[in-house]
Amino acid sequence: MSLGSDDIRFDQQHIWHPYSSMIDPPAAFPVVGADGVRLTLADGRQLIDGMASWWSAIHGYNHPALNQAAHQQIDRMAHVMFGGLTHEPAISLCRQLVEMTPDGLDKVFLADSGSVTVEVAIKMAIQYWHAKGQPQKHRLITIRNGYHGDTFGAMAVCDPVNGMHELFTEVLPQHLFAPAPQTRFDQPWNDADIAPLAALIEQHHDELAALILEPVVQGAGGMRFYHPEYLKAARALCNRYDLLLIADEIATGFGRSGKLFACEHAGITPDILCLGKALTGGYMTLAATLTRTEIAETISAGGAGCFMHGPTFMANPLACAVAGASLALLQEGAWQTQITAIEAGLKQGLAPCRELPQVADVRVLGAIGVVELKQPVVMKEIQPRLVDAGVWVRPFGKLVYVMPPYVISNDELATLTRAMVSVIHTL
Ligand SMILES: *Cc1c(COP(=O)(O)O)cnc(C)c1O
Repeated sequence: MSLGSDDIRFDQQHIWHPYSSMIDPPAAFPVVGADGVRLTLADGRQLIDGMASWWSAIHGYNHPALNQAAHQQIDRMAHVMFGGLTHEPAISLCRQLVEMTPDGLDKVFLADSGSVTVEVAIKMAIQYWHAKGQPQKHRLITIRNGYHGDTFGAMAVCDPVNGMHELFTEVLPQHLFAPAPQTRFDQPWNDADIAPLAALIEQHHDELAALILEPVVQGAGGMRFYHPEYLKAARALCNRYDLLLIADEIATGFGRSGKLFACEHAGITPDILCLGKALTGGYMTLAATLTRTEIAETISAGGAGCFMHGPTFMANPLACAVAGASLALLQEGAWQTQITAIEAGLKQGLAPCRELPQVADVRVLGAIGVVELKQPVVMKEIQPRLVDAGVWVRPFGKLVYVMPPYVISNDELATLTRAMVSVIHTL
């Protein structure tokens, strides 16, 4: 498995990477293997992974149980269409999802990726009000600093500034944006924080189908942790003004924030729940939208007679089998002590950053550690320094952040945070 310099050149010249330029892009680091919490580069260097491949590889790479599930399933049936057919991997996965998600979320729609589950959630909300004879309730409201994906429906509810709305203003539906919650997770709650959202909902509820937000942890829109009381109050507003609550737990789902689902910090159940990222333990793409029976039945009793969505690779058996194995690992329960240890390790390991003049803020929740700088990073400077320090951390904007695989040891975590502190020190 050797990669030459002409392979890397081909990559640079012909292959888009996420949010990348095709003019003179920096060379990506070639990876030839991944095991546990370590990535092996083509030149033989091993990096401790701080990213869990964007929240997804929660059990670490090359996990024997997940490998086994993939092998067993691929030898039986890699894929069949889901229209008119069904199979054990989908049934068993959906049983697990109904069982482990907050009570009342009993109907599961399997989709291809996080962004698609957000599209599905939005369509469900719109079809619901349409079926109830209130088609004017078709707009959405959300909070600033949110991130919900890159497809059009999802993009329209991303933060209007860092979601690049200006570029797409002409084609995006215009939704309503409340200010981002200001009370941090660990600050005393202040009722005034919910007032702007309450005022907007009060004013516009006649045209609103749903409130969509990331519960407690705002991910790619700023890595902010807000107070669970905000979420509780938002749930109450949705009840009072007849809005559905869509919780986007694509990043937070499956333990990352210290609860299995971040909604549990507030003890609330959303009407629609979006899951993705860690669902297959980082093996392949799969996502799910869950909703309540009443919503599913109302949609189904509407004019269309069905829910209007059905991707080609819906419920891909291979992905479902691996997801089932990943959820079984979670159900063994070790994640709770792992997250508690990671939270403590991140707090301790990143504390020295607080003293650095480059740093504006340090925050940790569950297995998520964030160092917010005063200036945006210069990617082509910081990325090689982090790699040279033996870690895989991929900053964006002013944020140097990590959410490692849950199986990271205390020593590996200490190495990871030490590398972050020393590299930030050099900026
Ligand atoms: C990553 C993410 C998405 C988009 O998921 P994709 O699988 O990248 O389409 C949506 N919402 C949140 C909160 C995310 O973190």
